[in-house]
Amino acid sequence: MSLNSIQPQLSSLRTCQTDISTGMDIVSEVALDLIEAQATDDGPGLKKLEQMMLECAKLDQEINCYVESVEQMIAQVRHEPPHAMFKLKDSVKERFAELTAAVSDAEIESHCKVVAFRDSIRKSLQQANQKAVGSVEEELDEDIAVTQSQPNFTCPVSQVEMVNPVKNKKCQHYYDQEAILSLITTKQNNKKKCRCPVVGCGNTDIKPTDLELDLVMRRMIQTHKRQGGKS
Ligand SMILES: [Zn+2]
Repeated sequence: MSLNSIQPQLSSLRTCQTDISTGMDIVSEVALDLIEAQATDDGPGLKKLEQMMLECAKLDQEINCYVESVEQMIAQVRHEPPHAMFKLKDSVKERFAELTAAVSDAEIESHCKVVAFRDSIRKSLQQANQKAVGSVEEELDEDIAVTQSQPNFTCPVSQVEMVNPVKNKKCQHYYDQEAILSLITTKQNNKKKCRCPVVGCGNTDIKPTDLELDLVMRRMIQTHKRQGGKS
């Protein structure tokens, strides 16, 4: 076995993680559908979906641990005599067991997708409740409500309506995912930091890890589009 054959295997594990991440987005979407349909959080459905999210987060963490243990052991074996290669598999296994044992429940709970899931659920339930309360007075001040509650769907980078809105955790501003990521890449290629394009924002260094897909916002945009609304 050659050490060089390991890298492609590791990157296919990374692909798995991308799929897990997509899966988690889909679970979140289903949860929001559920809330929209029943407007309550006491059904067993949401609990099950949350459990699925936690399992995905755990799997994601385990892959991280596995990749890390393989990388650490490879780095180590390079500096050792050739016979060290023979125990590579065992030492990876050992290191993996150590790393996974160190993962706490709290770490899984704070997986960014789990946090975003709970956030979306909370926001969506709030919206559903507001709608229920507001429907009585709705007719009276519909116009005011629309102008007040209509958030800005325009991406400050592309100046068009966002498709996949992401929120910057640092400055709370929204951008379209594709537009902001390509802006960051362009800046990086010019060895520059990416400043937040929102006028007056003091955030001068946007990192892809600061960005979080906002599923509730995405649904609002989709609904808005379906209703043929003008922004
Ligand atoms: Zn900003």
